[in-house]
Amino acid sequence: MIVAGIDIGSRASKAVVIKDGALLSTHIGDTGPESVKTSFATMDATLRGTGLTLKDVDYTVATGYGRVLVPFARENVSEISCHARGINWYFPSVRTILDMGGQDCKAIKVDDRGRVTNFVMNDKCAGGTGRFLEMIAEVLNVPLTGIGDLALQSNGAIPFNTICAVFAKSEAIAYLRKGVAKKDILAGLNDAISTRCFNLLKRVKIEADFSISGGIAKNRGMVAKITGKVGLKPLLCEDPQLAGAIGAALFARDRCLGEKSSEMSRAQYGYSDGTGDYFITVDNGACDGCGKCVISCPAHVFELVGNGSSESKAAVKDSCRKKLALVCPGFTSCSHSHASNCHSVCGKGALSHSW
Ligand code: SF4
Ligand code: SF4
Repeated sequence: MIVAGIDIGSRASKAVVIKDGALLSTHIGDTGPESVKTSFATMDATLRGTGLTLKDVDYTVATGYGRVLVPFARENVSEISCHARGINWYFPSVRTILDMGGQDCKAIKVDDRGRVTNFVMNDKCAGGTGRFLEMIAEVLNVPLTGIGDLALQSNGAIPFNTICAVFAKSEAIAYLRKGVAKKDILAGLNDAISTRCFNLLKRVKIEADFSISGGIAKNRGMVAKITGKVGLKPLLCEDPQLAGAIGAALFARDRCLGEKSSEMSRAQYGYSDGTGDYFITVDNGACDGCGKCVISCPAHVFELVGNGSSESKAAVKDSCRKKLALVCPGFTSCSHSHASNCHSVCGKGALSHSW
């Protein structure tokens, strides 16, 4: 059986081919402006040298930011489920995962089969993401691949007041002009980012074993800072950037074997900022996909999502996640003006607000 997983991320595209349960080939490349072209180029590169063509692949699952734009994928699965599954393939003992991607950061709790039991995503701003580190590397004129090791040489991390992408860039430039060493600036930024990651992880309750996935897991300076904050040494797979694509390929294998996929049981959508925590939690175990919250919400916050092989569940729309507190006043305030709201119509008690 030959299956493939492809992960079209915002910065990098990754694919893997699994043949008879073993990893046959992998590829990591840049995501171009057109996801469809990127998906074909990524898959071509992955199959090169294997003697296989796309027609030989029994089933392909796509994940990541551009997962709906992979024409040859039979199905798409969220990157959260795929990262959880991919990490579980390497380390079944892992219960907490930090996924640091190109443009967002997620804390994920998993069970012994790699099923997501809880997750929280912070994608309000680019601070602390791969894109942010690229920008800082550019400002400091240091190769992206070298920033982790350079930060490790620091003996005096410079404190950063913010990791807002815009302000941190200005702060980094100001420190550079004052003659502060690049290694100390980088160590300070890693410190600030790791604090933010730690706060995210605390929302899902950190439990051993712990792992980090995504491209930033290759940054040794960042991993060292996160290890210090969390107090657990992360288990790192051979290439943490491939975890999502491997998970997608494992879902593809499940489909070929006729097995039902693992689903998320609890999802938290939103962010924390200086004014508070703004998360809407959907208990997927309780949600029956009735859609009443979608109809009742005056702010059109919800949609129903499903991956074709499972029943639909309520989710907060992508377009609302970065501005939740602006579109939704919170349950208490909303119920003063709208007697029929997401909580009152949900007979399953599947929704909660953190503000
Ligand atoms: S109203 Fe409740 S049960 Fe129905 S889709 Fe929304 S969250 Fe799920
Ligand atoms: S509290 Fe009101 S505005 Fe907020 S999600 Fe629920 S129904 Fe929509």
